[in-house]
Amino acid sequence: MISVTVLGSTGSIGVNTLDVIARHPDKYRVDALTAYSQVDRLLEQCIQFRPRVAVLVSDTAAGRFRERAKEAGLDIAVLHGEQALAEVAADTNSQVVMAAIVGAAGLVPTLAAVTAGKRVLLANKEPLVMCGHIFLDEAAKSGAELLPIDSEHNAIFQCMPDGYAAGQKPRGIRRILLTGSGGPFRARAREELADVTPEQACAHPNWSMGQKISVDSATLMNKGLELIEACWLFNVGADDVDIVIHPQSVIHSMVEYNDGSVLAQMGNPDMRTPIAHALAWPERIDSGVNQLDLFTVARLDFERPDLDRFPSLRFAYRAAREGGTKPAIMNAANEVAVAAFLEDRIPFTAIFDVIEYVMTGIDAIPADSLGAVLLHDGLARKMASRCIDDRFNNAVCKEQ
Ligand code: NAD
Ligand code: MG
Repeated sequence: MISVTVLGSTGSIGVNTLDVIARHPDKYRVDALTAYSQVDRLLEQCIQFRPRVAVLVSDTAAGRFRERAKEAGLDIAVLHGEQALAEVAADTNSQVVMAAIVGAAGLVPTLAAVTAGKRVLLANKEPLVMCGHIFLDEAAKSGAELLPIDSEHNAIFQCMPDGYAAGQKPRGIRRILLTGSGGPFRARAREELADVTPEQACAHPNWSMGQKISVDSATLMNKGLELIEACWLFNVGADDVDIVIHPQSVIHSMVEYNDGSVLAQMGNPDMRTPIAHALAWPERIDSGVNQLDLFTVARLDFERPDLDRFPSLRFAYRAAREGGTKPAIMNAANEVAVAAFLEDRIPFTAIFDVIEYVMTGIDAIPADSLGAVLLHDGLARKMASRCIDDRFNNAVCKEQ
């Protein structure tokens, strides 16, 4: 039996992970489940999977959860606070940790799992963007296995030569073709983007995901974050990665070899495929995903990305080339701007303005320690928040 901890079990990736685990009660059991504050969903999951521990970051939610767990007769330890996330991630009772918290909040617990030498399933891309080299260095020391869950990176991993491990320089490769659907506004003119609502931005044509990544997909910042994620995971430069817009989301990414061969991984757009792949790797298990029907798909289209309408891609190439803390600065500004957009405090296109303002306003320093990365993450958040507050008075973001 393999024991699995799911960080962020109540989210979109968390729910999909438990769906795959439920199909294989003979292979996997659940050691710990964590959530920010969703008592009801976490309780249902605990009743079904009977983990040893549940963690809620929110103190008050943990209090309510304890009462409800007692009423339900559950024998479970209930912890709260951020520190508890890192504790369960590193606990020796589990061998596999699914990192499915959203945003920079997942950095410390995910790194704790890596330092503890686990198999770490990396859905939570923001920490990798912030300091991928720290993750890879820690994994090299601890022997942790890093397996990508992001569908594109999982696809690239599957197209790598046999025996390939994350972070190694791949042999015989010319370039990586990172595909993306183009999001819900792929065909919209720039002028039509200004009054997009959070609801429209969260309605992705092909994937059902959490709110933050859905907005990132609509701004194409998700593809920008994935570019940097690919650079770390596959030890390549930003210029070795080409972004290809592929609206059907059937090819999940490709790898081109020196001899001209291009390998693609295909399948229905369903996160249970990469989750099952990484859980069982190098074996293969059933994921519950429907067979790909190529006759229904009928055609595959490819387009160049439009960097003028979606400047996030330019920001990401710039952050990847500048290096140091620049990716962490970009990520932090994006997290703050997306949260403000979801709260209806800024228009959709202001997300781009905030990111550009903060990236221009803070010079990168070497990202040689977690301290340096977190310092610039904090600085960028403050500058982004100030920029958003001021924007309604004197449009300071536009000025610079
Ligand atoms: P989500 O918003 O649906 O779920 C997030 C989970 O993290 C929830 O369980 C929530 O309770 C928890 N959480 C939120 N804030 C937290 C905090 N501050 N501290 C601790 N826990 C917190 O997100 P998601 O769509 O499942 O995405 C999770 C991660 O996976 C993201 O980094 C995303 O980029 C990545 N990812 C998601 C998908 C997808 O299909 N959803 C695909 C590829 C990559
Ligand atoms: Mg992806």
